[in-house]
Amino acid sequence: MRKKIVAGNWKMNLTLAQGEQLINDILQAGLKLAEGQEVVVATPFPYLAKAKSLLKNYPGYFVAAQNCASEKAGAFTGEVSAEMLQSVGVDYVIIGHSERREYFNETNAILAKKVDLALANGLKPIFCCGEPLAVRQAETQNEYVARQLEESLYHLTAEQLKQVVIAYEPIWAIGTGLTASAGQAQDMHAFIRGQIANKFGREAALHLTILYGGSAKPGNAAELFANPDVDGGLIGGASLVAADFAAIISSL
Ligand code: PGA
Repeated sequence: MRKKIVAGNWKMNLTLAQGEQLINDILQAGLKLAEGQEVVVATPFPYLAKAKSLLKNYPGYFVAAQNCASEKAGAFTGEVSAEMLQSVGVDYVIIGHSERREYFNETNAILAKKVDLALANGLKPIFCCGEPLAVRQAETQNEYVARQLEESLYHLTAEQLKQVVIAYEPIWAIGTGLTASAGQAQDMHAFIRGQIANKFGREAALHLTILYGGSAKPGNAAELFANPDVDGGLIGGASLVAADFAAIISSL
């Protein structure tokens, strides 16, 4: 059975005190995670160690960074390496979020290097892919996403791929209030799983957790997660409100 995950991506929001409060409120909700279900909180870098210590006695709760450097170490002012993240207890790292691709010029080739460094340092990449609106309108989203996977993940071994989670996040749905319909999400997730099966084999594809992201919220999470190839969500805005995030976790 593959893991089901709800991951909250805080992006560049919240102070440390607000973040601590949010984590405590989520824990207070007292949610029972079933076998194979995980909750991941992707905080800004300065809060990761604190988040890890708040969650350490809660099985099934993990911490993610929102990015890591594409270089191993050295004179790269302002960057944070995968090794540093591992040294403070981080479990997952989001790689290739569309905001990183768009505002920080992260290419598929750069992201391939980040994936390698994450894996080499024992971090599980949450690799984001997804098409812009114009591509969806041209109905070439499958080719677009296939290329993202190919150029950033296809150099891995099937064994390495087992550590990777994929998040499908159509850019036109991120923070816009527009959600992919359950059918659109399922179609793309099934396509991604098929591509992975072709490249890495059926077993690797069946094992792969594929999350949906883009305006997921309490009102649509259950319908999205009910699809056979949707294994949870990467949640932005709604992860900042404890009651909403808890409701989404309960929809798994
Ligand atoms: P959103 O963001 O839920 O606010 O649309 C999702 C994401 O960017 O990961």
